[in-house]
This record gives sequence, structure tokens and C-alpha cells, in this order.
Amino acid sequence: MAVVNTKFIDDISASGSFNAAACMNCGVCTAVCPMGQDLLPRQLFRYAVIGVEEKILEHQETIFSCLMCRMCEQNCPAGVKITENVRTLRGYINRTVFGLSRV
Ligand code: SF4
Ligand code: SF4
Repeated sequence: MAVVNTKFIDDISASGSFNAAACMNCGVCTAVCPMGQDLLPRQLFRYAVIGVEEKILEHQETIFSCLMCRMCEQNCPAGVKITENVRTLRGYINRTVFGLSRV
């Protein structure tokens, strides 16, 4: 069973801005992503919002494979700032897993 960290959003916010509350899981981001990202952003952002930290850490490779091309963001009907969120998740992983300061 997944462990929920109720302070996870606060924890990742120390690495930058993160807001995916408006995501409605429509799948447009996946459809336009040149990397065919199925998990990111719609599933991993949801895990982050509800505090399932282990899923974020489990999918570090996916988070770092994003090209930051903004194709998803430019087509997102909910206006989710996808690349900013990805940057924040990377900063969180760099800080907590690799012991690096904000990147
Ligand atoms: S396109 Fe936007 S609203 Fe749709 S799933 Fe992706 S992030 Fe969520
Ligand atoms: S910014 Fe990342 S997730 Fe979005 S379309 Fe580009 S590669 Fe895919």
C-alpha cells in the first residue's frame, strides 16, 4: 500500500513553484509529447498533489527525461505550468536524493 506524505507539496515547494491542481487528466499532454510521456505530467503530478512521494522517487528517470520543450504546456486546456512543475520536481530530487542545492 502506498504511503501518503501529507506535507509533500510543502516539501517540494521548497524547490520552486508547483501547482497541478487544475489538471483534469485529459491526456492532451501525452498526445502531443515528442517523448511519448505517459506518466509525466498527468500521472506523476497527481501523485505529487496527493503526496505519494515514493512514486515520484520511483520515476526519477522519467522526470529527468523531459525535454522541457513545452509542447504539452502550450496545448494544456487547464493552463497547468507543466515545465515549471517538472523543474521543481527535479530540484526536489536533486536536493533530497543527490544532496545538491537547488538546480
Ligand atoms: S494536458 Fe493539462 S489538464 Fe490535460 S492531463 Fe495534461 S496537464 Fe492535465
Ligand atoms: S515539456 Fe516534457 S512532458 Fe512536455 S511535451 Fe515536452 S518532453 Fe513532453
